Amino acid sequence: MYVKQLEVLGFKSFAEKVQIDFVPGVTAVVGPNGSGKSNITEAIRWVLGEQSAKSLRGGKMEDVIFSGSDSRKQLNFAEVSLVLDNTDGALPLDYAEVSVTRRVFRTGDSEYLLNGSACRLKDITELFIDSGLGKEAFSIIGQGRVDQILNSKPEERRVILEEAAGVLKYKGRRKKADQR
Ligand code: ATP
Ligand code: MG
Repeated sequence: MYVKQLEVLGFKSFAEKVQIDFVPGVTAVVGPNGSGKSNITEAIRWVLGEQSAKSLRGGKMEDVIFSGSDSRKQLNFAEVSLVLDNTDGALPLDYAEVSVTRRVFRTGDSEYLLNGSACRLKDITELFIDSGLGKEAFSIIGQGRVDQILNSKPEERRVILEEAAGVLKYKGRRKKADQR
């Protein structure tokens, strides 16, 4: 599995639709300070279900919507789509290509789509939980994250190891079952 394409519209600094195509191998994004490099990784985390506005450097989720500039009006929604190559079947879906879309409106409405069909956040979280990709997986290592892992408490480090070992999914399901 690899990230094939990212499409961003109205998310943070992306006032116009921007499509980024990735190929297997290394891709480096370069640009001046404030040009939107970090916003690209945040778009990837966001579309995979990130719920913390703070971890996206905002105060509330609405802050991810393009807020206008000297020459442009603010937008009323943000939309991000991520296309993954799944020819190796790493994601348990019978599709060679999997697309995930998330939209949020200033009204507070939001939606998720999986291969173009409306779905729940839970469906996306469960799809990615043991794939190595996902809003909290190690495929995205943010600034300071290495220090954070080294300095974390044993219990917190255990969660990281459990995610890597692929048992987190079952723990989540057991917790749900216990609550019933
Ligand atoms: P650096 O090299 O300093 O890390 P960067 O390329 O990673 O910079 P980002 O942090 O991705 O840059 O982008 C920051 C820019 O995004 C700022 O100019 C900020 O004003 C803009 N931005 C963030 N949120 C919004 C928003 N909701 N609407 C419009 N612009 C936004
Ligand atoms: Mg940055």
